Amino acid sequence: MLKEGDWVLIRYEEKRYLRRLDPSGSLNVRKDVLKFKDLIGKPEGVKVGKFEVFRPTLEDIILLGFSRKTQIVYPKDAFYIAFKLGIDKGSRVLEFGTGSGALCAVLSSLAGEVYTYEVVEEFYELAKGNLSKFGMGENVRFHLGDFAEAELPEEFFDAVFVDVKDPVPYLQKVHRVLKTGGVVGFLLPTANQVSRLLENLRDMFGGEEVLEILIRYYKTVPERLRPEDTMVGHTAYLTFCRKLRS
Ligand code: SAM
Repeated sequence: MLKEGDWVLIRYEEKRYLRRLDPSGSLNVRKDVLKFKDLIGKPEGVKVGKFEVFRPTLEDIILLGFSRKTQIVYPKDAFYIAFKLGIDKGSRVLEFGTGSGALCAVLSSLAGEVYTYEVVEEFYELAKGNLSKFGMGENVRFHLGDFAEAELPEEFFDAVFVDVKDPVPYLQKVHRVLKTGGVVGFLLPTANQVSRLLENLRDMFGGEEVLEILIRYYKTVPERLRPEDTMVGHTAYLTFCRKLRS
């Protein structure tokens, strides 16, 4: 049952809204009004006029609820990254930089423990705030500082993800803190950055893969089912590899 203070995803035709159920609140779309007091005590999945009300998924929360001051890892990439890193509730994962915390939220929902490093205080606070606003992040250790200066034991992490402009200066340290055989992933927007990364992985990491994820949404009209007219053409290249024994 929906109760006061719950976050809900409200769909109205093609529009989506993420709102907190405050009994004095309401949502006005075109000429329709949804009063939140009418939702309290109702089951999720309720339809009121043209409004459909659900509990938000993590994707809804990241896309509609997180404040962003950095480029984020989009859910289409983030969930596949988590899959490729091979994490589960027993994993200790490292990521840097934290940015707005979008990937951090996904890793936190799937891993046992997440260590995240952010060098800019404003983004460190933003990411912590984004996760705590939605009751997430209890298994996350947020660190304010440069990953290069972090004091970490050898072979400490099951998996690592790197989302900084130039990952090359950090490769030796990533190699040191990652367990042998563990997966490391990188997100880079341009192909020349990926080439430079590949040149520098040699001897330390093996099993390289480079990929990108294209997602094509369809208009959900049964009698005229066809792709949406526009799509996101590119977010970033993903590179994955595994630590070789030194
Ligand atoms: N993955 C994040 C997300 O999904 O919201 C976005 C990361 S953002 C593109 C890159 C971040 O890395 C920036 O916030 C930047 O300040 C941080 N950064 C860059 N170099 C760093 C370093 N050496 N240590 C820690 N953070 C770093």
